[in-house]
Amino acid sequence: MMEVRADYHIHTALCRHATGDMEAYVLEAEAKGLKEIGFSDHAPAEEGFDPNHRMVLSQLPEYVKRVSELRKAFPAIAVKLGLEVDIHPGFESLLETMLREFPVDYVIGSVHFIDGTLVHMEHQESSIEGRNRLVRRYYEILEQGIRSGLIDIVGHLDLVKWAFPGMKEHIRLGGNDILRAIQEEDLILEVNTSGWRKPPREVYPSPDLIRAACSMDIPVCFGSDAHSPEEVGADFDRGTALLEDAGYCREVLGNHRLRIFLPEEEKVGSMEEKPNLASSKRDW
Ligand code: ZN
Ligand code: FE
Ligand code: FE
Ligand code: ZN
Repeated sequence: MMEVRADYHIHTALCRHATGDMEAYVLEAEAKGLKEIGFSDHAPAEEGFDPNHRMVLSQLPEYVKRVSELRKAFPAIAVKLGLEVDIHPGFESLLETMLREFPVDYVIGSVHFIDGTLVHMEHQESSIEGRNRLVRRYYEILEQGIRSGLIDIVGHLDLVKWAFPGMKEHIRLGGNDILRAIQEEDLILEVNTSGWRKPPREVYPSPDLIRAACSMDIPVCFGSDAHSPEEVGADFDRGTALLEDAGYCREVLGNHRLRIFLPEEEKVGSMEEKPNLASSKRDW
């Protein structure tokens, strides 16, 4: 069985809706046998954008400093500095500034709002056409982030199934188009296990989309989306079984030296066609 040794989606109390010392997250990761952990707390956004669920810009230096302190305090485990960024119209410039000023190792791009409509809450009020439109718009916003050149990992790709549980087929088809964008932009798809402990009761993205991603040779990484220390690495065994079933079989170091999973080599194609895989080879 493949072993998952890194959890790249971890929050901290700085975002105001997660609990526990950052140190407790690292200790939990060590206790669970992980070799690597990446904090990816909700990044600051421009004024007025969902202020209760993120750190403010003036807290970013403290977050960066804490991660580097933990890196020194726990030499047996790699501690990376990430950010989970809310993709929304106009998100680029603040992110560019943060990436210029801080040594961020990777960015997870996620959509939590469809023009003000919360994605992680069930919505029943709109018509079929209205729901179709919102699902389409969700993916449109996500694609904007994927094409921005500013994100590395696509977070909980089909989170929108939480908002519209009756739209499974629509969400899968839209997700398939997004996989093409991920492939074209050479990004990493996150397998986010928090879906299993949240109302969708299904991993993000769905097993169908994970299988599709594998057939497209899209690299994946793992994230628990922990908002408390005990959630670090949650359901990674279950996620690993699913990945193996889909055809993923080996761990390599990918872009930014992130631990990613790929399908068998034969399925991957030549290195000329796939510069991302060439660079993962070099990293070995
Ligand atoms: Zn959160
Ligand atoms: Fe998120
Ligand atoms: Fe998150
Ligand atoms: Zn998340």
